[in-house]
Amino acid sequence: MDMPQPREVTLLPDGVHILWADGHGSTYPHRYLRAQCCCATCISETTGRRLVFLADVTADVEALDWMSVGRYALQFLWSDAHTTGIYPFTLLRQLCQCDQCRKERAASQP
Ligand SMILES: [Zn+2]
Ligand SMILES: [Zn+2]
Repeated sequence: MDMPQPREVTLLPDGVHILWADGHGSTYPHRYLRAQCCCATCISETTGRRLVFLADVTADVEALDWMSVGRYALQFLWSDAHTTGIYPFTLLRQLCQCDQCRKERAASQP
């Protein structure tokens, strides 16, 4: 599968919106996306275990800014000063919360 590419990234009060190059639209609630961070602080490098969960993230956290990292990922500046997180496009696309993607994921689960 080709790497998904975002065409537009918009920060709105209810979350981060991504319009993908294939026309698909994704909305990620800020807190949800913050909790999916895969940096060394949020996931242990030694065990690969997640250290930061949704419950650990402040309820009103939001993305203040974002930038693209190379041609494969986005980096968000979170209001809790966490800036080390990099979200590969493929991960973001997997995290899409729309009904269509949820159904597809549910169908592909063993
Ligand atoms: Zn992190
Ligand atoms: Zn989707």
